[in-house]
Amino acid sequence: MSTIALDVVTPNGSVFTDDNCEIVILESTQGELGVMAGHVPTVTPLKIGSVKAKIDGQFEYLAITDGFAEIRGDKVTVLTQAAEFADDIDTDRALAARKRAEELLKRAHEEEIDEVRAELAFQRAINRLNIAQFK
Ligand code: ATP
Repeated sequence: MSTIALDVVTPNGSVFTDDNCEIVILESTQGELGVMAGHVPTVTPLKIGSVKAKIDGQFEYLAITDGFAEIRGDKVTVLTQAAEFADDIDTDRALAARKRAEELLKRAHEEEIDEVRAELAFQRAINRLNIAQFK
């Protein structure tokens, strides 16, 4: 079976790279996108969500914050602010982040609260908690 390469890059460098993915499943802003060898060249924005890569029949799960994916040749490059493997997610930290965000969202009517920022922090925390289930 022909495979596709995946590189997940953050400002701290590459966090994941593998040349032999059977499929890479991305969450674009338009919906889920499954990428296999031979996919048309694409650049797409990604939501706060997951990157799933099937390698040797097993899925690897990564939580990512928002970013972009470039699909070109037989390679997917994901550029994102932060990415963690399910195993590396600190659940207590994500629970604390979710609680902080929820408290800010309850006070969203107050002038000094940045509701969009609190909503994004909430989504990052929920996403990490979801992906941590695949530990
Ligand atoms: P927090 O408020 O807990 O910092 P955050 O959503 O503001 O959460 P980010 O700005 O998205 O955090 O990420 C900052 C750095 O911390 C990144 O390197 C990210 O990979 C890491 N990180 C954030 N939350 C977790 C977590 N729950 N487990 C592991 N790494 C995390």
